[in-house]
Amino acid sequence: MDLRRHNAAFCGEHLSRFCRDQVTRAIEDFDMIAPGDRVLVAVSGGKDSLALWHILGELGIEADGFSIGLGIGGYSEASTECTRRFAAEHGLHLLECDLRERFGTDVPTAAAAAKRVPCSACGLSKRHLFDSAAVEGGYDVVATGHNLDDEAAVLFGNVLHWHTEYLARQAPVLPAAHGFPRKVKPLVRLAERETAAYCIVNGIDYQVEECPMSAGNRHLGYKEALADLELRSPGSKASFYFGYLREAADRFRSDGSAGEPDGPVPCGRCGAPCSGEICSFCRLLDRAGAAPLAVDGPPVAVPVRLGRSDQPIAPHPGASA
Ligand code: SF4
Ligand code: ZN
Repeated sequence: MDLRRHNAAFCGEHLSRFCRDQVTRAIEDFDMIAPGDRVLVAVSGGKDSLALWHILGELGIEADGFSIGLGIGGYSEASTECTRRFAAEHGLHLLECDLRERFGTDVPTAAAAAKRVPCSACGLSKRHLFDSAAVEGGYDVVATGHNLDDEAAVLFGNVLHWHTEYLARQAPVLPAAHGFPRKVKPLVRLAERETAAYCIVNGIDYQVEECPMSAGNRHLGYKEALADLELRSPGSKASFYFGYLREAADRFRSDGSAGEPDGPVPCGRCGAPCSGEICSFCRLLDRAGAAPLAVDGPPVAVPVRLGRSDQPIAPHPGASA
């Protein structure tokens, strides 16, 4: 494989080593995972999240997976299938939460009812459920499969529109805050073409279809624009993104942290930290007419189904505090 931004070409074996090295470097450079941390990987069944789960295992970092049934027709079914197969083949522990089973709604329905674009409703649900599952299961870190292309495209969009409040959160690590676990993006040094190649070389069967809800997504437009630029000038994406982190990111962090915008007030419905009476996820459920979370229920609890064993998840020591 020809990697023009590194002015190098690799065979399969060396490409795998290159990917592992880049992940190791990202973890070390940004203090993403400390020895003994319990890690939960957000797994969608796509190339990035499965490559991430695989690489962490290769690096000796034990991690469980968490997958959400988004209810986006055949796309979600195929994604879940890839995730389950990968977990089973590699003897990994998979937690699952299905939006329709748990809340009686799904991404297309909730988005339409709340008059939000599907990706906005989807992103909100994922963030909430990953946080909840991590707190519930006593995980210290949530690792996501965002790669260099994703991060450069988000940065490009935020700079283009000068969304400074979002720039403040644009970092490969978001520290734990307000009861939320730390969020890390260990693939930030790898382009998506590289994670796809990693999967192929390592026999990882991933969901290759694009989500049908992604049509018209602005983020994809930014990705295409940057891909064009990268073609003409290899290394532009990495230079743009890492240059931002090095030269400018500090200017946008108001309090030195890159925490979530939600504040420390417990949501009146689910107990998740939020900035108002009810968190954004519970508001979404309300507007979608979905099953509300019990007021008296445990805080930020998300029932999960275990993919590999029947063992219950060890409760987090502070989960019911
Ligand atoms: Fe969710 Fe949008 Fe991604 Fe589809 S494209 S999985 S709706 S965020
Ligand atoms: Zn809530």
